[in-house]
Amino acid sequence: MKIDILTLFPEMFVPLRESIIGRAVAGGKIEINVTNIRDFSLDKHKKCDDYPYGGGAGMVMMPQPIASAIEFVDPEHKARRIYLSPKGRTFSQKMLGRLSSYSHIVLLCGHYEGVDQRVLDLCIDEEISLGDFVLTGGELPAMVVADCLARFQGGVLSEGSLVDESFTNGLLEYPQYTRPQNFRGLEVPEVLVSGDHGKVDAWRLEQSEKLTKELRPDLWEEKKR
Ligand code: SAM
Repeated sequence: MKIDILTLFPEMFVPLRESIIGRAVAGGKIEINVTNIRDFSLDKHKKCDDYPYGGGAGMVMMPQPIASAIEFVDPEHKARRIYLSPKGRTFSQKMLGRLSSYSHIVLLCGHYEGVDQRVLDLCIDEEISLGDFVLTGGELPAMVVADCLARFQGGVLSEGSLVDESFTNGLLEYPQYTRPQNFRGLEVPEVLVSGDHGKVDAWRLEQSEKLTKELRPDLWEEKKR
């Protein structure tokens, strides 16, 4: 998969060079390009934002540099073009299943008061929100989406990691433990050191169900339907 991120603040994307995602990029499992929208401004001062028509606080990102940047990274509109926006559909693990079927994704990051509506109408396929809150820009949401998509690419995670985690089967994950067996008087549950894989699986399922019921009754209701 190829992900093109369009932003006015490319320096913010350092985290994508680290850890699992950094290795996935270095190993060619996923391609992530960060493009500066300002490079596409036709204004002599490379201006990319202006006052909102109708008045009001803040600045709005102008349509021309954004449209030109999108058309540069995706000239034939073959990619899924996404605008990160508080008005979008809420991002979820379920949504990732669909998004990971695209071979090319463009993520547009807004800033200031947002983006001129016309470039959204002309160039964007869908809007995705990280949740019901407002951030200063789309850069953090774009990193979240890119991180989640990278995990879905073959060879990025170890075998089975995606099968056995929260939301995959509509449940939260069971509690995890590692060494030492006793930490400050708290023992690892006995079943996990029993060597009986059947019992371990049954315990984990039971714990997953218990946690989901307690912490996410909404998920539990959906699971039962
Ligand atoms: N004026 C806009 C509104 O009230 O809907 C908010 C603009 S916000 C300050 C600037 C940019 O941050 C947005 O254009 C969007 O790209 C990004 N953003 C803010 N909150 C977000 C969220 N919850 N999910 C995704 N992107 C978000």
